[in-house]
Amino acid sequence: MIDLPYIKKIFLDIISKYNELFGLDLSYMDVELSEHPRYNDGSISTEIADDEFVGSWTKNKIIYINCNPDKVIEHWNLSMSIDEFLYWIIAHELAHEIYFNLMEKSEIDYIIELAKQENFTTEYLKIVKPEKIDEEIFAEYLAYLIN
Ligand SMILES: [Zn+2]
Repeated sequence: MIDLPYIKKIFLDIISKYNELFGLDLSYMDVELSEHPRYNDGSISTEIADDEFVGSWTKNKIIYINCNPDKVIEHWNLSMSIDEFLYWIIAHELAHEIYFNLMEKSEIDYIIELAKQENFTTEYLKIVKPEKIDEEIFAEYLAYLIN
């Protein structure tokens, strides 16, 4: 199980990278650990298994990250270290906040278009539902640029 101070250190590192690269201020956001999946209102979901849950963006200015990253990496068979995983998922969930609250639609569309022109993809994007694909391309591409 990962501890909160460790996650917060990575979280602050990612926030300062978003500030350097895009001039965005995410300092009002917070990160929490969760053993169980979370909906976007922060409540616990039982729709998927705990080990399937990677992380969640919520409308409450908090992102949740699975407190057992080793189990998630094993479940999804990811070829990442725990640190790589944490840097990726924190950057990904913060990108959802940027998508909803910090960037103009024209800028968002431009970034999605860039990602598509580069044929950018990830393992995760191969399993995303079609109605969520643009939002998830945006989140994955920003996480890629940040890392
Ligand atoms: Zn996402």
